[in-house]
Amino acid sequence: MRLLTTVAEFRAARAQVKGSLGFVPTMGYLHQGHMELVRRARKENDTVAASIFVNPTQFGPSEDLAAYPRDFDRDRAMLEKEGCDLLFYPGAEEVYPPGFDTYIEMGRIAQPLEGVARPGHFRGVATVVAKLFNVVQPTRAYFGQKDGQQVAVVKKMVRDLDFPLEIVVVPTVREPDGLAMSSRNVYLKPLERQAATVLWRALSRARDLYERGERDAEALREEVRRVLDSEPLARTEYVSLADAETLEEVDHVTRPVMVSLVVRMGATRLIDNIILG
Ligand code: AMP
Repeated sequence: MRLLTTVAEFRAARAQVKGSLGFVPTMGYLHQGHMELVRRARKENDTVAASIFVNPTQFGPSEDLAAYPRDFDRDRAMLEKEGCDLLFYPGAEEVYPPGFDTYIEMGRIAQPLEGVARPGHFRGVATVVAKLFNVVQPTRAYFGQKDGQQVAVVKKMVRDLDFPLEIVVVPTVREPDGLAMSSRNVYLKPLERQAATVLWRALSRARDLYERGERDAEALREEVRRVLDSEPLARTEYVSLADAETLEEVDHVTRPVMVSLVVRMGATRLIDNIILG
């Protein structure tokens, strides 16, 4: 695996790639969720590239940018083992040099859900993803369903701005008890870790009801909230049942919907979702 830390170095390596290139953008502190994206990219492309960059522009002023977990040596070994060919690992000054002043402003898709809770988050995500796409020039880029709104935002940006690539969405990889794998799970204290199974129990309850024929969106939201409220350590931030493509809240489930939720468990903010229909 080749390690490239500047845009110029990566472009030179990219120029030598023949055939298709699969790309997995990450913020590092890798786990099996990330690795599933790499494995999928490995299967579907001649060459695989990953990036590790903790993107400062997608963190709010009171968020965990400085504390975000990092372990570059471990990440590098994991990627190498999974057959990744190129690793782009730029510093913040390489991506945002002094004077950087151009951003991608997403429209309605970025307003609800995480857009409310984390103002400016998707402006940062869209800007860094666009920059990475321009540098890496992938044939296919791999994103996890775990970050459901991010998937919708990136797909919309690719469509609206004519990026010449395919977005591949990979199902959420979960721990045996259902908790979605996340770099932030290391923040959880032991009792919070146990309590965190409530997210998956709540989503599974929505799926059960849906499979038994419930199509009333508010009834499904209510039931998800009820399960979350049964866990004393969990503080629900939001529960949403929205059109999977536009992310507008629905009254009835007639098209695919994303059931998404955010729960605070102590100091940790946990996010999860499933698609119904
Ligand atoms: P991050 O490092 O958190 O920015 O995540 C990098 C990519 O990995 C994103 O596309 C995430 O959606 C994806 N990802 C993170 N956790 C999981 C998971 N548990 N299952 C599948 N994909 C994931």
